[in-house]
Amino acid sequence: MAIKKRKVSMNRTFSFWEREEWLKKPDLLIVGAGIVGASLALFYKKAFPGHDVLIVEKGVAPEGASTRNAGFTCIGSLSEHLSDMQKAGEETVLKRIERRWNGLNLLRSTLAAGEMGYIHSGGYEIFTDNELLAECSGRLDEMNTLLHERLGIESVYSRREYMGYPAIHNHVEGAINSGKMMRTLHQKIQKAGVRIWWNTRVESIDSGVAHLDNDTGIQAEQIAVAVNGFAESLVGLPVKPARGYVFITKPIADLGWKGTFNHDRGYVYFRNVDNRLLLGGARNLAVEEETTDRFGINPVIKEYLLSFANDVIKLPPEWEIDVEWSGIMGITADKEPYINEIKPGVYAAAGLSGMGIAIGMQVAKELFELIRNSR
Ligand SMILES: Cc1cc2nc3c(=O)[nH]c(=O)nc-3n(C[C@H](O)[C@H](O)[C@H](O)COP(=O)(O)OP(=O)(O)OC[C@H]3O[C@@H](n4cnc5c(N)ncnc54)[C@H](O)[C@@H]3O)c2cc1C
Repeated sequence: MAIKKRKVSMNRTFSFWEREEWLKKPDLLIVGAGIVGASLALFYKKAFPGHDVLIVEKGVAPEGASTRNAGFTCIGSLSEHLSDMQKAGEETVLKRIERRWNGLNLLRSTLAAGEMGYIHSGGYEIFTDNELLAECSGRLDEMNTLLHERLGIESVYSRREYMGYPAIHNHVEGAINSGKMMRTLHQKIQKAGVRIWWNTRVESIDSGVAHLDNDTGIQAEQIAVAVNGFAESLVGLPVKPARGYVFITKPIADLGWKGTFNHDRGYVYFRNVDNRLLLGGARNLAVEEETTDRFGINPVIKEYLLSFANDVIKLPPEWEIDVEWSGIMGITADKEPYINEIKPGVYAAAGLSGMGIAIGMQVAKELFELIRNSR
């Protein structure tokens, strides 16, 4: 993809004071205020408290996935891993689980449980397909042994029943309030002195300068691009945008499902949020249409999830959607995140492949180390 090259411009209406203070050249300019951009700012400021860090974000809030997800803090279901192993091999999938585990530990050591509404509920994969259940049950012990060797955790998966369904329980999983997690993260970086320009879109990036949509060029010593699902359109990375859909119901009296749940290789996920049901996923039903960085709701996916809520979750009659929304993820061909220097002094992390609550801070840490080692 051809990337636009433009001159550095400085709109002449800026005052001397604005030029001196607001437009001054930061040591690190971060594009994107999601979990990766904000965590990178936190780690960088901790290492270099005297350096100036500026984040530029196109939305009035982080407007990609970090405040629009389902909030599962998960290392993944057994059926998801077995399916991925068929495509990518055992070692790749084990490394991925390890990165998820490291990311979750980093998240939990960076933010206190109360600062992000963390609930250690455990998670259930529920089955309606006997063949898939038999395959997963048959390989459960083998997977537990591999994870014990790799992560040092005993018996991650165990066979259970839940609400009348055969299930596999995962005792290391939980959930967060994603909005609260991101607000806390932003409060921490602002307290550390990080500057943020909201509602400001970067149009293109060259070494040492980011060109904004208001015809201003911001120069910076180093630039980090943390735009995930928008990385292909902004800087031409091999990361496909992927839209995900979620809804949350109005409160339901006596909602039997407590905790976090997933189904069908992780494609469908749901959880209890204060006696409301949050349900999402099913992107695999319309992969081509959902390969987009535009927000919106696909009626085929919505219809499927409505049926799932009625027929599988068996919500009581007259339940209602309260809020529905979409978010934009970034997916790489092998589901491994892209973390690299893309041109001199310009670094990028993208393609968190739908796991960014789990791996977001770990990816930010790896990006930070790349930037620090290049100084
Ligand atoms: C519906 C849904 C459910 C999900 N559920 C889970 C889950 O349960 N568990 C889990 O681990 N992960 C989940 N994810 C994935 C997770 O949310 C993402 O992987 C993670 O938030 C990615 O973080 P990020 O910081 O890389 O990207 P983002 O949060 O998307 O941040 C990128 C930011 O860059 C900004 N930006 C883009 N282009 C520009 C530009 N040109 N100029 C300025 N700013 C720009 C965007 O507005 C955005 O705020 C889900 C995602 C979705 C969409």
